[in-house]
Amino acid sequence: MAALSIRALSKRYANLEVLKGIDLDIESGEFTVLVGPSGCGKSTLLNIVAGLDRATDGTIEIGGRVVNDVPPKDRDIAMVFQSYALYPSMTVRQNITFGMECRGVAKAEQEKALANVAKLLQIEPLLARKPSQLSGGQRQRVAMGRALVRDPLLFLFDEPLSNLDAKLRVEMRMEIKRLHQRIGATIIYVTHDQIEAMTMATRIAVMHRGVVQQFADPDTVYRYPANLFVARFMGSPP
Ligand code: ADP
Ligand code: MG
Repeated sequence: MAALSIRALSKRYANLEVLKGIDLDIESGEFTVLVGPSGCGKSTLLNIVAGLDRATDGTIEIGGRVVNDVPPKDRDIAMVFQSYALYPSMTVRQNITFGMECRGVAKAEQEKALANVAKLLQIEPLLARKPSQLSGGQRQRVAMGRALVRDPLLFLFDEPLSNLDAKLRVEMRMEIKRLHQRIGATIIYVTHDQIEAMTMATRIAVMHRGVVQQFADPDTVYRYPANLFVARFMGSPP
């Protein structure tokens, strides 16, 4: 069963057609990178999958269930943004456990989940700090910790590393990739960075002007680009 199925999805703002009939099937355990230039519709697509935005047309299925009318909190997803979106007044510990608290998860279970992700992300020494006392990379780890404790069917990442400096970005790429391999998660990862796409993805969806131009493994996209746009964007050899 596909973790995510998108059928004939379109999105219009007045005269602007942002998504034009997207079809996409993502298998469980895949690391899909959605890559394309700024403004091509990546965030719009991700937000519609998350339920933060509504499609004009088409259907979204998560884990075999049509979720078009399901609110974000009931979609079995967790999202990580470029801006971290941490609660500034809460400690790292509270930021990570708050969602579980709201869902009525038992205290002992919360502690167990917290200990697990803190170890996995190496943020154990930071649990008592506030977000303002963390570096960018540490904040992004906390944001990932908060997503991980949800244990969702689908992780959605929207340019999570864009605010980090180049060196840290490379480190975090590797870390996220390792994380994917260790927990066997299904991830959709949005970026405008071709290298990020090539190094992280099990499959790449290249997007341009609201259309998925090619959806294939990194090697195929690079060596056998579907069209001139993909070839240029991915820097394929002529
Ligand atoms: P990306 O994430 O690939 O950079 P977006 O999905 O954010 O692209 O945006 C795609 C297009 O939709 C852009 O042209 C953007 O200006 C437009 N857009 C996004 N949100 C809105 C909105 N609320 N109203 C009108 N246009 C929008
Ligand atoms: Mg975007």
